Amino acid sequence: METQVVIAGAGPTGLMLAGELRLAGIDVIVVDALPARTGESRAGGIHARTMEVFDQRGLLERMLPHGRPIQAGHLAGLRLDFSDFPTRYPHTLAIVQADIERELDQHATSLGASVRWASPVLGFRQDATGVDVEIGGPDGGWIRAAYLVGCDGGRSAVRKLAGIGFDGTDATMTGMLADVELTDPPAGPLFSQRGGPGDFSVLGFQEGWYRLIVQRHDRVLDRAVEPGFEAFRESFREVAGTDFGMHSPRWLSQYGDAARQADRYREGRVFLAGDAAHIHYPAGGQGLNMGVQDAVNLGWKLATVLRGEAYDDLLDSYASERHPVAARVLHNTRAQTALSRPGPHSDALRELVAGLFGIDDVRRRLGLMIAALDICYDTKSDHPLAGRRVPDADLVTADGAGRVHRLLAAGRPILLALNGGDVPSVEGWTDRVDCVTATCADDRWTVPGVGEISVPAAVLIRPDGHAAWATNGPDDGLTDALSTWFGPAHLTT
Ligand SMILES: Cc1cc2nc3c(=O)[nH]c(=O)nc-3n(C[C@H](O)[C@H](O)[C@H](O)COP(=O)(O)OP(=O)(O)OC[C@H]3O[C@@H](n4cnc5c(N)ncnc54)[C@H](O)[C@@H]3O)c2cc1C
Repeated sequence: METQVVIAGAGPTGLMLAGELRLAGIDVIVVDALPARTGESRAGGIHARTMEVFDQRGLLERMLPHGRPIQAGHLAGLRLDFSDFPTRYPHTLAIVQADIERELDQHATSLGASVRWASPVLGFRQDATGVDVEIGGPDGGWIRAAYLVGCDGGRSAVRKLAGIGFDGTDATMTGMLADVELTDPPAGPLFSQRGGPGDFSVLGFQEGWYRLIVQRHDRVLDRAVEPGFEAFRESFREVAGTDFGMHSPRWLSQYGDAARQADRYREGRVFLAGDAAHIHYPAGGQGLNMGVQDAVNLGWKLATVLRGEAYDDLLDSYASERHPVAARVLHNTRAQTALSRPGPHSDALRELVAGLFGIDDVRRRLGLMIAALDICYDTKSDHPLAGRRVPDADLVTADGAGRVHRLLAAGRPILLALNGGDVPSVEGWTDRVDCVTATCADDRWTVPGVGEISVPAAVLIRPDGHAAWATNGPDDGLTDALSTWFGPAHLTT
C-alpha cells in the first residue's frame, strides 16, 4: 500500500478530511486536478456549527482574523436573527472560502498530509483489500490505497466512475456574482433587494472590495460557459437600475439552483463527501459548511477502521448519518428558490413568512437548521443528548479551567464524567477512549432541537463532538455504545 487513503480534491471538504485523518495518524495523499490553488473567494461565510467544529480542532482562532461576525443569517434573503442561539458563536462569520482553504491546507500539511496539484483522478479499480487510483498529470501513475474519498466537487469524476446516481431537480434560475471595486458604492450593504426578474445584493467583504450578486429567474444559463464582465454588468443593471460604477473585476462566477444528491455515499472502498455528494442553490450559505461536517463525520470512522479497532460496518453509518442531513438542505434550498421568485404572489408569500419569523419558535427552528446546530444522529441511546452535538460548557478539570470542545483537540473519543458522579468504567477501551473528570457550574444545558436538559453525570463524546451516549444515573448501555462506535473491547485479562 502506498498510502492508506487517497482524497480526490483539495477543496474545503478534502482538506478538512486530510487534517482529520492525519490527526488520527492515518497516511493520506490529496490529489487535485488544478495546477495550483486558485485563491478564488467563492463562499462568503460559515455558520455556528462549522465554527464549533473548527474550534474543536483549534482551527477557528486562525480563521477569525480573516472574518467578520454578522449577527444574522437568512432564508431566501429574509433575515433570521441568530443572536440568542445556545452556542459561543451566535452569528454568521463572513469569511471567504479562499481564507478557509488556506488555513485548512496549512493545518493538513503541517500534520503531514501531502497535496499533489495537477493530479486529476482518471480512474480506479477496487478489490477486497484496496483500491488502485489512476492519477493523470506530469507525475501521474497509479496509487494503491485502502480507501478513496471523492471530495472532487459537484462534477465529481469519482462519483461518475463509481456509477453512483445523482438525481434531483434541474436549475430554474441563474445567479451571477462578481468581486469588483465600485466608484459609486451604496451607503450601506444591500441584501436581496428585489427588482424586475430577480434580486441583487451589494456586500462590502474586504477593504475596497464588493461582492455584487444578481439572481434572475427569467433565464437558465449554461454553467459551463464563463460569464463575461460586460454581460454581468448588463444583467445587474437590468435588475438594480444602476451598476454602482463597478470596475476591475477580480472574480466572476455563476451558479444555479439545481439540487442533486448522490443516491449512495459509498461504493465498496470508495466514498463521496461535500459537493461531490450533494449540490444545491447556495442560498443560506450551507454547502461548504456541510462538506466540512461530512469530513468530520467520516474522518474518525475511517481512522478507527484503518487502525483495526472497529469493523468495516462502522463506515456505513457515515451515509446513514450524513445523507439525511444533505437531503434536508436540498429541501430547504428548493423552498428558498420558490420564495425568491419575482412577482406579487411571491412578494405576498415573503411578507407572510417574514411575519412568521417574528415568532421565536419559528425563527429558532429555521435558524438552528441553517446553522446546523440541531442535527441529531441515531445513536440508539435514549438520553436526550444522545446523537446531538455536546454543548461547549465551561469546565474545571485536573488541568484547570477549560471547556468541552477543547477536549476534542486531539480528535479522540472522550468519556466525560461530571460533577462528582461515578466515573463509568471504559476497561477494554482505555487505548482508544480518554476519561476526563470535571466539574461544570451549570445545572442545565440548552440543547438545540431539544430544549433544556439536566447536565448529565457522564457523556461519551465522539471525535466529531456528538454524544454517543449519556446518562444521569447508571451506566447502562455504555458498553454497547463503546463497541458500536469504537469497536470491540481489548481485554487484557
Ligand atoms: C456563489 C456561491 C456562494 C457560496 N456561498 C457559500 C457560503 O456562504 N457558505 C457555504 O457553506 N457554502 C457556500 N457555497 C458553496 C461552497 O462553495 C461549496 O459547497 C464548497 O466549495 C464545496 O467544497 P468541496 O471541497 O466539497 O468542493 P470544491 O470546493 O468544489 O472542491 C473540489 C476540488 O476537487 C478538484 N477536482 C475536481 N475534479 C477532480 C479530479 N478528477 N481529481 C482530483 N481533483 C479534482 C477541484 O479542482 C477542486 O479543487 C457557495 C457556492 C457558490 C457558488
